[in-house]
Amino acid sequence: MRFAILSDIHSNLEALEAVLADARAQGCTNFVCLGDVVGYNANPKECLKIIQDLECPVVKGNHDEQVSIVRSTEGFNELAEEAIDWTRAQLSADEKAWLADLRLTRQVRDFTIVHATLDTPGQWGYVFNDLDAIASFTYQHTSLCFFGHTHWPTAFVREDNVRRIAVGQIILSPGKRYFINPGSIGQPRDRDWRAAYCILHTDRLVVEERRVKYDLETAQRKIRAAGLPDRLADRLAVGR
Ligand code: ZN
Repeated sequence: MRFAILSDIHSNLEALEAVLADARAQGCTNFVCLGDVVGYNANPKECLKIIQDLECPVVKGNHDEQVSIVRSTEGFNELAEEAIDWTRAQLSADEKAWLADLRLTRQVRDFTIVHATLDTPGQWGYVFNDLDAIASFTYQHTSLCFFGHTHWPTAFVREDNVRRIAVGQIILSPGKRYFINPGSIGQPRDRDWRAAYCILHTDRLVVEERRVKYDLETAQRKIRAAGLPDRLADRLAVGR
């Protein structure tokens, strides 16, 4: 069985459609979503509908949470905040309620999904280094967990110690624990503009990183037409 691991879609319809087409061409029949369906880009309703229609396990991201409440809490930069206000105005009460009801962590078959960290999933901390990963591993009860939030494809493996490894193609070994970030579909920040996601091959115990080109110009044009900050369109082209 092949799972497509989707994260940080952020209302980028062109990127999401390209990723789903690639995932289906690669034989994926199952999907999970690590949160931040909305925020930043111009198609929150469309992306939300696609994810709802997949009827797949979804966990809540910090942008999903912020758009579903009346007023944002602190901690967002100006650029994110502007997009959150815009997104909040686009979504219906039902759409916001759907986002508000998402859980912070879920177990899917024998792996776990979370947006930020397993130690304090509702505080939206970032896992960038080994120390961050060690804290999260303490609360990881399955050998494999997928997380998002940083928009960087990255993986940590715990054996005797914890170390960071490239995603690329990871063969999952018994006895080790893995904490893997597939990267972001809608706003990659690792200086590669292409949409990022992972495929979990459950039969071969392999996690594979994928990068997919999409119609960047259309996504950028929509951001500008919506009156969202230009910088949100510009950054997509450079993957930052
Ligand atoms: Zn995000």
